Amino acid sequence: MKLELAKSAGFCYGVRRAVRMAEQAAAEGRACVMLGPIIHNNSVIEYLASLGVGLIQRPEEAEPGTAVIIRSHGEGRAAYEALAERGCPLIDATCPNVSRIHQIVSQAEEAGRQVVIIGSPTHPEVAAIAGWCARPLVFEGVQALSDWLEGEPERRNLPVTMVSQTTSTQIIWDKCVEKAKKECTNLKIFDTICNATCKRQSEAQALAARSDAVVVIGGRESSNTKRLAELCGALCPMVVWIERAAELEPSTLCRKASIGITAGASTPEWIIKEVYDKMSDENIEIEES
Ligand code: SF4
Repeated sequence: MKLELAKSAGFCYGVRRAVRMAEQAAAEGRACVMLGPIIHNNSVIEYLASLGVGLIQRPEEAEPGTAVIIRSHGEGRAAYEALAERGCPLIDATCPNVSRIHQIVSQAEEAGRQVVIIGSPTHPEVAAIAGWCARPLVFEGVQALSDWLEGEPERRNLPVTMVSQTTSTQIIWDKCVEKAKKECTNLKIFDTICNATCKRQSEAQALAARSDAVVVIGGRESSNTKRLAELCGALCPMVVWIERAAELEPSTLCRKASIGITAGASTPEWIIKEVYDKMSDENIEIEES
């Protein structure tokens, strides 16, 4: 049996940066908390808690004077204002790719344009992007966008600025762009899908296409891990999504000639290694893709 590990598996630049910033604050002995989990991985959050980095869910829970870490997904304007009012210094770990989207949408709205965000309305990154606008529209995909455009004919003439959740798939985005270009008379589009996400997704697809099974490692809350599992599922007959090695049942994968491994952007190296080691203990030959 051959085991192949995707090169791009694991922490992306933005997540690595956020975790380092939290580690550094803890090492300096600063009283600090994360506003929401800084990344979607429970093991990493537990590790940071062990260093003394606390977790709050709302700005109102921050003790005045305590440093607050803004997660890689970012926060809306209201959170920044609330924390400033409470006198909390910020450790802003918003991924620069996400900050750029905040800038695009707030400038678009200032210019009187209608902001359209393509993404999952409940995802923290999308909620944060929407939080930089007074009247954003969020559509999960082309069907929701079409329903809105076709709901009232004059919507086609609105000045629309369209951006994407960084972890959306290219196919969802491309369909929305095609529809918007066909219908809208005043459209500005910004392809804000992250390169790291694109690379990870295309590598995972290539790996899935040549494997008999794929193991996807990542948190249940992680949107980009979910996308990886969906993309692999379309190309490979068996996809196993796990958070930790303990969930892996080797008998599920026995008699598979080739197994691919990939992992979401919020999966730390040590968890990938844990899975890798467990599988190699099964005497599987390991290769890097
Ligand atoms: S996936 Fe991309 S946008 Fe999101 S945190 Fe990572 S580098 Fe930043």
